[in-house]
Amino acid sequence: MTKFEALGLQKSLLDAVTDLGFETPSEVQEKAIPILLEQETDLVALAQTGTGKTAAFGFPLIQKIQSDSRTTQGLILSPTRELCLQITNELKLYAKYEKNINVVAIYGGASITDQAKQVKRGAQIVVATPGRMKDMIGRRLVDISKIDYCILDEADEMLNMGFFEDIKDILSNTPKEKSTWLFSATMPKEVSVIAKKFMHNPKEITVGDKNSGATTVQHEYYVVGGRDRYPALKRLADTNPDIFSVIFCRTKRDTQKVAEKLIEDGYNAGALHGDLSQNQRDLVMNSFRKKQIQMLVATDVAARGIDVDDITHVINYQLPDEIETYTHRSGRTGRAGKSGISMVIVTRSELRKIKSIENKIKQKFLQKTIPTGIEICEIQLYHLANKIKETEINEEVESYLPAINDVFKDLDREELIKKIISVEFTRFFNYYNKTRDLNSADAGSSGERHRERGGDVPTSGSVRYFINVGEKDGYDWMSLKDFIRDTVGLDKDDVFKVDVKESFSFFNTDAEATEKILATFTEFKVDGRFVNVEVSKNPGGGGGRGGRDRKRSGGGKDRSRSSSRSRDRNSSGKGRDRKSSEGGATYSGKRRSKRKSDFF
Ligand code: ADP
Ligand code: MG
Repeated sequence: MTKFEALGLQKSLLDAVTDLGFETPSEVQEKAIPILLEQETDLVALAQTGTGKTAAFGFPLIQKIQSDSRTTQGLILSPTRELCLQITNELKLYAKYEKNINVVAIYGGASITDQAKQVKRGAQIVVATPGRMKDMIGRRLVDISKIDYCILDEADEMLNMGFFEDIKDILSNTPKEKSTWLFSATMPKEVSVIAKKFMHNPKEITVGDKNSGATTVQHEYYVVGGRDRYPALKRLADTNPDIFSVIFCRTKRDTQKVAEKLIEDGYNAGALHGDLSQNQRDLVMNSFRKKQIQMLVATDVAARGIDVDDITHVINYQLPDEIETYTHRSGRTGRAGKSGISMVIVTRSELRKIKSIENKIKQKFLQKTIPTGIEICEIQLYHLANKIKETEINEEVESYLPAINDVFKDLDREELIKKIISVEFTRFFNYYNKTRDLNSADAGSSGERHRERGGDVPTSGSVRYFINVGEKDGYDWMSLKDFIRDTVGLDKDDVFKVDVKESFSFFNTDAEATEKILATFTEFKVDGRFVNVEVSKNPGGGGGRGGRDRKRSGGGKDRSRSSSRSRDRNSSGKGRDRKSSEGGATYSGKRRSKRKSDFF
């Protein structure tokens, strides 16, 4: 007898279990299935996401349904359309060898008439989101007055999403004599309220610690400066070349922005948030399931429906306000017995939040440091070498080999390897070779910090750069400043001490912007020509934020200082430009258009 047989499942369902490839029941299945099969009882089952709750209620439900009647006998409420569809599909697989069992999904964003038609044809089991369900009850398109079983799946998430009133309404349309099964990952107050209000002496099953995170998930945090979240995210991704992840942001706007930046930077990324149409969200989710998207950037609400098994990393780009939300986020990884990592990018001021989460989930976080550029280059290098080694040979290549061999005939093996590796590696190297340490200065207790190559880049104060464009490209200090600011996406006063020479120039920013500047100008081309920016070895004109502060404090003061010795000695022409430009907007406009026509 297999373990599933021992739970009391009938033959048709055991055959489906075999087809699904389930060998041993998960803990929640082992505990819930026998109770639900043998008794007519209410049940509260608490188990983390990914522990197999769908089968824990799905199999008993199907076994108990009268398939010879077309009356709706079972109602499953679930928080999102995606989950609703997933449950429906799973149940159909479970009922594969049952004749005449119909499972119908009811959810918003699709034709209500089509759904009503499907229900009318006879659906013994209805899987619904609360909003659409309420709507259909109101229009008498579905009748749940004779159900025997009501299942509240992911109850904590439904309540989190504000469905309490809807659920109450829906339940008031169901008969008193029925069994209610509530499944939830966590047991916040609101869920106990539902249990008390709508259930009678429910049996209780708990898998693992109440309210604790799944133990297959490792929790890590990285302390960075507030403006380094994005470069830190990139490094975390680059350190894990096979990453398949969900990245959580707090707002729709940040979600969209981070996804766009990642795409711009060449990652397979996508955004999932409420401002997208249902169609757009479906497209994104499909690409994610097919792993065409490696990094899915999502809001908490939009991510509620994500039920993908192989997620390797959950990245908290920002921490959520509620600790419960963190549990939901990290529960997206470490599913179905696999291990996963939940990473948190925090600033120093948020560190106490980590402590509260640790207390709540009863698990410790590991403090880790953002890898240095050189470490990432190394990882990428070995990954690339292994990828080449593991690549399956495409036999179509065969016929081109003589010609290709001819191309390579003067290269020996070593040179060839170096060149093949360089094809991809150079991109990383160029990017990381100039970068600095991202770990927040006073974050670590060890105090050990790497200086990356080109490591004379300060992490605070102001940084001076060299850029290989100048007057001959049509720039003056102001148009160059605008160009840098607009290209990099900096704020108005972020670029200062701009010093334009004949064929090159210098400028300053605060150290916080350095990574962004260098990243933007990596392999950056205008009209086929590389625009290169490097941190200047000569700090002249650097030294604090004087230039910027002065500028902020007003034009008059600035002008009076422009002749003083604190200025760059060789800044001939700069003072004049600055004065003129501050004198009137038309002048700067003219300059800007000149730059455009000359350079672009
Ligand atoms: P939950 O609802 O608890 O988050 P699911 O029911 O969605 O979890 O199950 C998570 C994954 O585990 C699904 O892919 C499911 O097919 C798989 N699964 C469920 N039960 C078993 C089992 N007994 N053996 C192997 N895989 C299982
Ligand atoms: Mg589930």
